[in-house]
Amino acid sequence: MEVMNCKHCKKLFNYISGPKICPACKEELEKKFVEVKEFIRDNPHKGISQVSEEMDVSVQQLKQWVRQERLIFSEDSKVMIECEQCGAPIRTGRFCDNCKRSMANNLSKLYPNKEEPARKKGTESDKMRHFR
Ligand SMILES: [Zn+2]
Ligand SMILES: [Zn+2]
Repeated sequence: MEVMNCKHCKKLFNYISGPKICPACKEELEKKFVEVKEFIRDNPHKGISQVSEEMDVSVQQLKQWVRQERLIFSEDSKVMIECEQCGAPIRTGRFCDNCKRSMANNLSKLYPNKEEPARKKGTESDKMRHFR
């Protein structure tokens, strides 16, 4: 555990893990999140900047919630964030479907089921030499 300044209110607090904000601000943010979620549900056609203005939450924070897949804008809203890999517009999460798929492929390439034959280098011939 270490003592840190809260990113929001600058107060010192005992930091354990997660976002660098104090428990009070974290609670505030959670309340805000619930409000924002309801607001988006009631106003599915509002863009991210409108939500940000009307709910007094930064666009950055909204996008972070979207990236964490906690917040999902409706199908017909124009809200899009960018794929972290290729920049393609996506609705939620961090990567577009294409990148997700190629990442899954790369992952299976990283861990193939190859069996490395155990090498007994020289042992056989050494033995042979000894007993000859
Ligand atoms: Zn705080
Ligand atoms: Zn992508």
